This record gives sequence, C-alpha cells and structure tokens, in this order.
Amino acid sequence: MNTLSATTAFLDEAADLLGPRGLTTDPERMDAWLTDWRGRYTGRALAMASPASTDEVAALVKLCARHRVPIVPQGGNSGMAGGATPDETGTALLLSLRRMDAIRSLSPESGQVVAEAGVILQHLHDAAEDAGMRFPLTLGGKGSATIGGLVATNAGGTQVLRHGTMRGQVLGLEAVLADGSVFNGLVPLKKDNRGFDLKQLLIGSEGTLGIVTAACLRLLPAPIGRVTAWIGLDGIVEARTLLRHVERDMGEALEGFEVVPAHCLDSVLAHLPDARSPLAGRHKWNALIECVSAGADSAALRERFETSLAAALEAGMFEDAVIAANERQAEDFWLLRDSISAAERAIGPAMQHDISVPVERMPEFILAASPAIEATFHGTRAVAFGHLGDGNVHFHVLAPPGSVRGEWEESAGKDVSARVYDLVCEWGGSISAEHGIGQMKVPELARLHDPVALSMMRSVKLALDPLGLLNPGKLVIASPAACA
Ligand code: FAD
Repeated sequence: MNTLSATTAFLDEAADLLGPRGLTTDPERMDAWLTDWRGRYTGRALAMASPASTDEVAALVKLCARHRVPIVPQGGNSGMAGGATPDETGTALLLSLRRMDAIRSLSPESGQVVAEAGVILQHLHDAAEDAGMRFPLTLGGKGSATIGGLVATNAGGTQVLRHGTMRGQVLGLEAVLADGSVFNGLVPLKKDNRGFDLKQLLIGSEGTLGIVTAACLRLLPAPIGRVTAWIGLDGIVEARTLLRHVERDMGEALEGFEVVPAHCLDSVLAHLPDARSPLAGRHKWNALIECVSAGADSAALRERFETSLAAALEAGMFEDAVIAANERQAEDFWLLRDSISAAERAIGPAMQHDISVPVERMPEFILAASPAIEATFHGTRAVAFGHLGDGNVHFHVLAPPGSVRGEWEESAGKDVSARVYDLVCEWGGSISAEHGIGQMKVPELARLHDPVALSMMRSVKLALDPLGLLNPGKLVIASPAACA
C-alpha cells in the first residue's frame, strides 16, 4: 500500500470508529487548535479526533498503533510550552479530549470527584462549589485548561504554597497506554504498596506515556473565611521578609503569595481599560496575599490578618496595603495578577521563562539575573512575577522596542533563554517550574539536565511507548540508540 492509500485507510477506519462528530479533516475546524496559546508554534495534523469515551480512545489508540500514526493529545490548548501542538509534517493525529467532559461522580462525604479529561477547570470549581466543596488548585487559564491537561503537565497555580501541585490533588487515574490498553487506577486507596506509583509516573508526562481519560481528585470543604490583600513594597527582598512574617502569623491559613513588579502592573492597567490600581501610589513591587480558613469565619480571619499586617508595617516591611472589602474586590485583585501574561503578550515579543530556585534565594536571583540579562542583551527588559511563595517566578525578557514578533524569538531570543537557563542552573534551580518541557524546552533539557535523570526518562519512554507514537518531539526524545 502506498502512503496515500495507507492514510486514507486509516482515516476511513477512524471515521467508522468515531462517527461524524468524532473526526474531522476540515482545515477550518482544526485551525484554532493548531497554534499554541502563545502563538509561538503552528503545526499541521492529519485529522482531529474527538472521542466521547474511554473505550473510543482505547480503540483509536490501537488503530493508530496498527497504522503507526503519531498522536498529539490536546485538552484546552492553554499550555505554555507548545506541548499540544503537532509538528509541521501533518502526519500526526490531533487527539482532542474536550468531548469527554463529564463529571462521573462527586462525593462531599468522601471529598472526592471523578472528572473526565475534558472537564474544564472552571467547571470543576463550579461543580465543587455547588456541593459546598472546593478543588484547591486554580490558575489564570482556568476557563480553558482541562483536567487531562492539568494532570499531564502537573500544573501548579496560585495555591501551591498551601496545597501543592496536581501531584497532590490526584488520588486516582484512568489512562489509555500506547498499545490501547487501559490503566484503571481510578479507585483511590489511602495505603497501597503494590510497587511503583504508576499514576505519579503519568502525572507530568505531557502526553508522552499515556492519554489521561479521567482522574479522581480530592476536594476540600468550601472555606468559611477568605481575606485578600494587595500590598505595595519598596523591594523584592522586603517581599520575602513579609512572606516569612505572614507565614509565621497565619500558618496554614496562608494560601497564596504572589509578587507583581510595577512594570507588570502598568502593562495590565494599560491592557484592561476598566482596571484600576488597588493602591494610590506606584510601588516598585506589589504582593497579592490570600488567606483562607475552614475553621474561622471571615471576620476572625480578617482580624488576625490585620494584626499581622499592622506589625509588618510597623517593622517597615512594606509601604502601603489594602485589604479587599468584599469578594468582588478580591476577584479584581486576582484579575490584575492573572492578566499579566496576556498584557505582556500584547506589548510585543518576549521570551518567557517559568523557573524556580530555592525560595530563600529568589530575591537575590531576581536582583542579579535581571540586570545581567539587560546588560548582555541591549534594549531588553527583564521582569519577574508570580509565585514567590513557591520559589517560582515567570522570568520574562521583553524584546527591544521595534523587534518583530516571530523573528526576534527565533534569533536573539534563543540566546537570551540560554543565558537565563544557565543562570538558573548556577543558582541551583529548575528550567521548568510548572509549565513543563513541551517542544519549547527539549534542547535546553537535554543540555542542562542530569544525564542520569535523562537516561531514566528515556528508558521509561521506550518501555511504555516503544513505537514512539505518543506526542513525539515533546519532553523526552527516545530511540533505542539513545538509550544504549
Ligand atoms: P493543553 O495545553 O491542551 O496540553 C498541555 C500538555 O498536556 C500537552 O503536552 C498535551 O499533549 C498534554 N495533554 C493534554 N491533555 C492530555 C490528556 N488528556 N492526556 C495526556 N496528555 C494530555 N500553568 C501552571 O501550571 N500554573 C499557572 O499558574 C498557569 N497559569 C496560566 C495562566 C494563563 C493565562 C494560561 C493561558 C495558562 C496558564 N498555565 C499555568 C498553563 C496551562 O493552563 C496549564 O499548563 C494547563 O495544565 C494546560 O491544560 P490544557 O488542558 O490547556 O492542556
């Protein structure tokens, strides 16, 4: 059979399997899903499959294995590393999980929800809230990001400080493996020592080891009290001092501690016409702090927080602060924080680095790395914002004014990133704190990661996906020769 007729045979069989709603080759219907959220990668696909059940995913993956068709799994396409975008050859099948969007069960008594891969994070939040519960992980892309994508990237967000990443939320997992078999690990057991924790192997594997079809996730009782403050500070070192102070005073109630430099706030205010700065003056740094309590009501929590902030002000840790008067104002604060990526994107080309270093060293890292990058790459501007409490910031380097989008990233931008990642490694950090490797960081991971760790990853990949059909070119590149 020649290539064309082999492709036609595959597409005919896939169409029989999935029906008209489940498969399309229409360029217009596929178009929006072939470019990543940041607009850095555009690929082509043989077709886009949208199976409606785990059985359909399993049958489709078997069919792909028989025809040697590569598969690119995709959820909400909100990932930041190009992991859900196929390459330009057009030989891969784009496998969308978005039609699998059922919440199979939700039990407030056991604090568990079983959600299919295509459930959008915001919908999960809404369902949990309706049941008097909450899912303790949130992020700026919550209107698009799906459970499958969150699991596959081991997403973090703004509550990691207290609740951890997806690794801490997933109690059980259902996934289709490269040969079409179904790993059924949905039923959670508090204790289970039957060998490897296979669900943890799949979490963060970015679609390279299996297709996540459903997850059992933990829920917590809805909080009784919530208090959110916007703080103006003179420096990032002061932000760390304040973090430690509030941690001591508020203990487990402290859930989020985000930092926003003046440049990022200016960008957001320019980007969102209706937004206003929470504070009257302009401060070099801002911190967004949130405390949540299941034990104390809002008034008691607020009182404790106000006492803590008063002591911090007295000690000169910050310049000004406002505590949200109501939920609406708290949401407005979060909107400012969550809009930074979109606002920066609107300004012009930039290289984004989602990096971590030990929390204690983060302020010094920012103070050393920002001027070092700006001095080496003339006209650039380095800004760092995000999850200071987790030792994780988004270190963005904005291109010199007038740079052409698409061109700068592919030329000087690559040198900028290499230098940033070198600095991160010198400071004992990670080149990917929460967005994953995707296709964006494959060369840098190969250049900078521990060779033993890379070799272990390749061995796992080869064992679980010997034909290399699951999300090729992403995260881990394995061939039998590379492992020898
Ligand atoms: P996609 O983008 O579709 O896919 C991401 C990766 O997962 C790809 O490799 C894909 O192949 C794989 N994948 C998707 N679904 C499956 C599946 N069912 N089975 C196997 N593999 C699959 N991320 C954070 O961690 N923290 C943040 O604070 C954060 N903030 C963000 C803010 C904004 C404004 C935006 C747009 C994004 C943000 N992100 C953040 C990134 C993004 O939301 C997360 O990476 C999210 O987990 C991606 O989910 P998705 O469904 O869109 O996945």
